[in-house]
Amino acid sequence: MAVAAQVASRDSQVYVLEKKKTFGQEISSRHSGIIHSGIYYPEGSLKAKLCVSGNRILYQMCQRYSIGYRRLGKLIVATSNEEAGELEELLERGNRNGAQGLKMLSRQEMKELEPNVEGASAILSPSTGVIDSHALMKHFITRATGSGAQIAYLTEVVGVEKVADGYQVTVKDSEGEFSFITRVLINCAGLDSDGVAELAGIDIDNAGYRLHYCKGEYFSVSGGKNRLVNRLILPVPPSKVTGVGIHVTLDLDNRMRLGPSIHYVDSIDYTVSNEHKQLFYDSVKSFLPFIEYDDLEPEMAGIRPKLQGPGEDVRDFVIRDEGDKGFPGLINLIGIESPGLTAAPAIAEYVAGLVRELLPDRG
Ligand SMILES: Cc1cc2nc3c(=O)[nH]c(=O)nc-3n(C[C@H](O)[C@H](O)[C@H](O)COP(=O)(O)OP(=O)(O)OC[C@H]3O[C@@H](n4cnc5c(N)ncnc54)[C@H](O)[C@@H]3O)c2cc1C
Repeated sequence: MAVAAQVASRDSQVYVLEKKKTFGQEISSRHSGIIHSGIYYPEGSLKAKLCVSGNRILYQMCQRYSIGYRRLGKLIVATSNEEAGELEELLERGNRNGAQGLKMLSRQEMKELEPNVEGASAILSPSTGVIDSHALMKHFITRATGSGAQIAYLTEVVGVEKVADGYQVTVKDSEGEFSFITRVLINCAGLDSDGVAELAGIDIDNAGYRLHYCKGEYFSVSGGKNRLVNRLILPVPPSKVTGVGIHVTLDLDNRMRLGPSIHYVDSIDYTVSNEHKQLFYDSVKSFLPFIEYDDLEPEMAGIRPKLQGPGEDVRDFVIRDEGDKGFPGLINLIGIESPGLTAAPAIAEYVAGLVRELLPDRG
């Protein structure tokens, strides 16, 4: 939706094809809702660059268009001396990435901010916050349609064929199948983005585009414990940055939850297993000692579209025109996992730049 809003602002012939009956039924409504600051990602990666600029743009948009947000700030807490060393590396990486205002805190400084959190030291990230992602999506849709984009719901892309002047796209809706031709096809299909690339004829194994689904579960925290912290509290992330580690989030209504966990799965299933409660409790009890086992209740789950399989090195977003693979005008966005929400407006600008290169005569 961010891409449609950005591209439609210079070229009104934009059609958004969405297989569900409305927007935001897949990844974009099953996440932590955090505006990340850009600490974690490898230097120079699209994840780092687009997260840092997305963070800045999102806050401006929230203020300008009254989209709900809370600039809460976050602490990344080290619970041992070994983790304290890892925090130093993380701080340096965050600074190199351009994350704003990071500060290392001693145990005492951390305790002044968060008396109920335990740890040896912490990084304070003041530019981390939470956002009303539903309102953000609605804003993008209003902008896209206001600039002439058309959105077709219940319309699934089932075929893509390269033709002389672009792509013949076949879609299925309630009436059956029909096709049309477009000069540029932007594949933002989230959990299906590898499948859409494959429909177009890309060998997704050769290209390294096959997605691995990675489930993240959340547990709500009751018992008034949300009053015991003032900001988001995260552990030092596990190695290889598969995720940022099970952490505490607060939403716009100050509801507290823990998550997301990390389990690679074969299919899309949003149930949350109560059997994982112990794992959640064990993951946070060292730095959030006030949380008790019985405070936790299964809440919801999301699925990450990961390019790296279990144990593999972290992969960057794929956002590119596939001209060098023989598919000019096919722009793939694959592996748009976290920080994809934060990065959305920056991803949109990046994609609009690719479209400008492909269609210099437009806009
Ligand atoms: C557990 C979890 C926690 C996260 N936490 C954060 C966070 O705190 N901060 C952050 O910045 N990011 C976070 N993210 C990442 C962020 O949520 C995603 O990067 C972002 O929502 C992806 O948006 P998208 O538009 O690419 O995918 P989606 O929202 O899934 O949109 C893709 C759309 O394509 C449609 N579609 C698919 N195939 C077809 C087809 N063939 N034809 C037509 N339509 C099709 C789908 O129905 C869907 O609506 C998190 C993700 C997860 C899973």
